[in-house]
Amino acid sequence: MTRSWYRGIITAVIAVGLLLTQVGNIVALATTATPFGPERFASDHATYVIDTKSAYYRHIWESAIYAWNKTGAFHFKQGSAAHAQIQLSTASQSQSVSMGQDVGLTDFWSRNDYLKSVKSTLNTQLLQEYGYSQSDDLHVAEHELGHTMGLGHNPSKRSVMYYRNRDEGIQKVDIQAVKLRYTLPAGEAS
Ligand SMILES: [Zn+2]
Repeated sequence: MTRSWYRGIITAVIAVGLLLTQVGNIVALATTATPFGPERFASDHATYVIDTKSAYYRHIWESAIYAWNKTGAFHFKQGSAAHAQIQLSTASQSQSVSMGQDVGLTDFWSRNDYLKSVKSTLNTQLLQEYGYSQSDDLHVAEHELGHTMGLGHNPSKRSVMYYRNRDEGIQKVDIQAVKLRYTLPAGEAS
């Protein structure tokens, strides 16, 4: 009797141990932080201009901006063609060729780790060739806007910043990364 009581306690302890391990894993998965580099805009807002002839891709960029603005972490504000800090574009035939297998690309110019000018381009030829849906296109645009704010790639698939992301929209880890990026000074990466 004593022995079986003892065994019962051991079993219970192991069960609790397993439960703790599982909870630990779930927490670890959910908090794979989206990294960021040393560059950031001077403040948590910036002006943009959409530079594409396509009404469809203009809508995609607008929807991605709406999604990020809704998070409250950063504010994209429409600017003038001459002075906007961010240019959102679609690739020409020749640009598309030079982008290779990248469905989106973000180039930036910075001084002392402050972003001065950023250009994000959607490779529309490739998006169509790969059969991306409208929501896939939106996720690619949201990913590129993540780069414009200074975010890097998240190794986890549960992030809009996964390097080959297609399915995921903006996640909590991505919003937290932008908030932290604009709390920490330029020059400090995560
Ligand atoms: Zn990327």
